[in-house]
Amino acid sequence: MARIPIKVPTPLRGFAGGHAEVLVEGETVGALLRSLTETHPALRRHLLSPDGALRNFVSVYLNDKDVRTLARDQTAVRDGDVLSIVPAIAGGAPSGTMAPGATPREGGRAFTSEELRRYSRHLLLPEVGVAGQKALRNAKVLLVGTGGLGAPAALYLAAAGVGTIGLVDLDAVELSNLQRQVLYSTADLGRPKLEAARERLEGLNPGVTIVPHAGRLDSTNAMEVLRPYDLVVDGTDNFPTRYLVNDACVLLGKPNVYGSIYRFEGQVSVFDARRGPCYRCLYPEPPPPDLVPSCAEAGVLGVLPGVVGALQATEAIKILLGLGEPLVGRLLLYDAGTMSFRELALAKNPECVLCSPKATQKGLVDYLQFCGVAPPGAASPGVPEITPEELRDALAGEEPPLLVDVREPEEWEISQLSRAPLTIPKGELTERMSELTRARELVLYCRSGARSADAVRTLLELGFTNVRNLRGGINAWAERIDPNLPVY
Ligand SMILES: [Zn+2]
Repeated sequence: MARIPIKVPTPLRGFAGGHAEVLVEGETVGALLRSLTETHPALRRHLLSPDGALRNFVSVYLNDKDVRTLARDQTAVRDGDVLSIVPAIAGGAPSGTMAPGATPREGGRAFTSEELRRYSRHLLLPEVGVAGQKALRNAKVLLVGTGGLGAPAALYLAAAGVGTIGLVDLDAVELSNLQRQVLYSTADLGRPKLEAARERLEGLNPGVTIVPHAGRLDSTNAMEVLRPYDLVVDGTDNFPTRYLVNDACVLLGKPNVYGSIYRFEGQVSVFDARRGPCYRCLYPEPPPPDLVPSCAEAGVLGVLPGVVGALQATEAIKILLGLGEPLVGRLLLYDAGTMSFRELALAKNPECVLCSPKATQKGLVDYLQFCGVAPPGAASPGVPEITPEELRDALAGEEPPLLVDVREPEEWEISQLSRAPLTIPKGELTERMSELTRARELVLYCRSGARSADAVRTLLELGFTNVRNLRGGINAWAERIDPNLPVY
């Protein structure tokens, strides 16, 4: 029987006793995974469906091969093999006019002497030269998201002289963005990101046209927004937009330069369904919304999106210039903790609903529904809520509710409610259910109210009846009830 190390990615380590690698014995991939989930039962729902099959939003690699392209569960293993679990993570391309491998679009007016000086280090590269620099000037790139990934990508694309850069974002600059979103400065706080980004990028390179697309990208506008661009850089931080961008790129025949980040780890690839797999080939379905925390919940090393966004910009420029080998059919994994890069082969899924010959999906769908998330700003359906004001009154009343803080221990250090609540991180709730009482009302809270709404839903499913969610989380409490508490 072989003894095989299974590499556990950061998002799942909390369910595997904190281990990055677990040694397991078995003869097949299926046996190894069963043994892993027997040792660490909390991993089971993340990896296997109730009938024991590998879940669709998790990929498992034997060495650098997707087991779905081998014999799946039945794939035999030998000593020396390494099994890697690669889950979908949320946190965050050239033109349809250019056929794969086609010559980049050159031509147009001659460069001015100022432009020749600005781009001289590119012009000196035989692989770029005047023709390549003109191709960049004629290129149009859309950045979806101007946050952690979009910020460095936008700076490098503008500096490189990509002629037209479209930006999609609807947020304003917040203080917590500045730890990593290097496009913005402290003076930009409160400004719309698009406005601040445009000013910064035009300041960097006045020869570049910045096209802001304000508002949310959705099924009704994505095709029109993406159509004029040569390539899309996906810098989104949520699954609905990620699938939307993927699907629109496949339908329009555009490359999609993908990047995502989680704590210390990043993923980069180029999805171009004309010559390789798409995001749906890798992950046919998104994970349930309560299974994978976002960067806002889990944190991210500030420089990580800088590295991943710069890798995305590199791929975008290579594609626009038609040089080198793009990351088509390859998933690059970057671990800042061990400072290591690994590469996994991505195969086109012959059953892909979107990009295979058997495709059944011919247009865009409702991505919020597909990903099982409520529209932004909507109340959580079916989750009983309590406002900060109501909670303040209830805590002063005859039968105060029991507070349950479902945040992570690191967040507890930042701010806490004064009445020493029970602290159970959301991921441990099911296992630690016995610590909860059914005799008193429970009020659950997290940072902003989203995680605790999921946690309330879980408790209701487990038969709890007297449980409510603090609307807006501890941040709303800090803003409305206790101004001494920090908002984060
Ligand atoms: Zn596909």
